[in-house]
Amino acid sequence: MQNVIITNNEKLSELKKRIALGGAQRLQVVSDFDKTLTSCFVNGTKIPSLISILRDEKYLTPDYPEKAQALYDKYHPMEIDPKIPLAKKQVLMHSWWSEHYALLVKSGLTKQDLARVAQSKKIALRPGAVEFMDFLHQQDIPLVILSAAGLGFETIQMYLENKNVLHENIHIVSNVLQWDEKGKAVGVQEPIIHTFNKNYAAVKKLEFFGTLRERKNIILLGDGEGDAAMVEGFEYDNIIKIGFLNEGVSVDLEKFKNSYDVLVLHDGPMDYVLESFTSLFDVVIVNDSPMDFVNVLLRELVSAKDHAGKKNSYMTS
Ligand SMILES: [Mg+2]
Repeated sequence: MQNVIITNNEKLSELKKRIALGGAQRLQVVSDFDKTLTSCFVNGTKIPSLISILRDEKYLTPDYPEKAQALYDKYHPMEIDPKIPLAKKQVLMHSWWSEHYALLVKSGLTKQDLARVAQSKKIALRPGAVEFMDFLHQQDIPLVILSAAGLGFETIQMYLENKNVLHENIHIVSNVLQWDEKGKAVGVQEPIIHTFNKNYAAVKKLEFFGTLRERKNIILLGDGEGDAAMVEGFEYDNIIKIGFLNEGVSVDLEKFKNSYDVLVLHDGPMDYVLESFTSLFDVVIVNDSPMDFVNVLLRELVSAKDHAGKKNSYMTS
């Protein structure tokens, strides 16, 4: 069993050298939220999505699950149909998300429901994710959390706040619900972020993008094939894409290998690929927690930059 796969050692090594040269001040991290920063399984049980917690805990009107399922049955086959061109899928997904928001409003969604979802013990951050976010904060490396989640912005914000990791270097880009004065949902802000426009075209429109513009080296984290395209719309210099392949290893492996530079597989110990990686690049792996690969990589990049900085000052003095 393998735990981490490097799809192209040479390419990764070159990318790491280039990103290390740029240093922390040229780096930004972009990450998906659901099942990337959070775990997919805890104690063998699959973690539900934010929206399914809302559904399962019956916070909404009783007809909500059936109607939401009908939307899923209508739109999901189109979402995954390879014959439908991207532009058409974008229109379809916008319709799906819009109809679903209209349904959430009709089903009585309140701000308090989001707060309850954000406190749910059913969601768990991926082991090592807190250290990861703390590390980025210490190094002043921006973390853009890009999510098409239905309960997006506020729920992710509250969840991270509850976990004491809502640092000022974190930018959440997700769907923002609109409320009336009593805290009842009345709509959603446009543009809606769905699975086929979840990228930097959306990020670029936001005020904080100015602070990211010159950070042209990127580490991307995702768990879906589409997540690998999150930086579309941004002219980056170098990117390392790390994919969390949480389930269906044998089915999705080849597809993921084409989309990501590193694959972190959910179950299974460190394998010989990782061992050869560590010996090649002199990386110390602390333990086999899934987020550790990312943490080790980041530390290595930042220390390589410090080292380069010291060398320069020595040469010029
Ligand atoms: Mg995800």
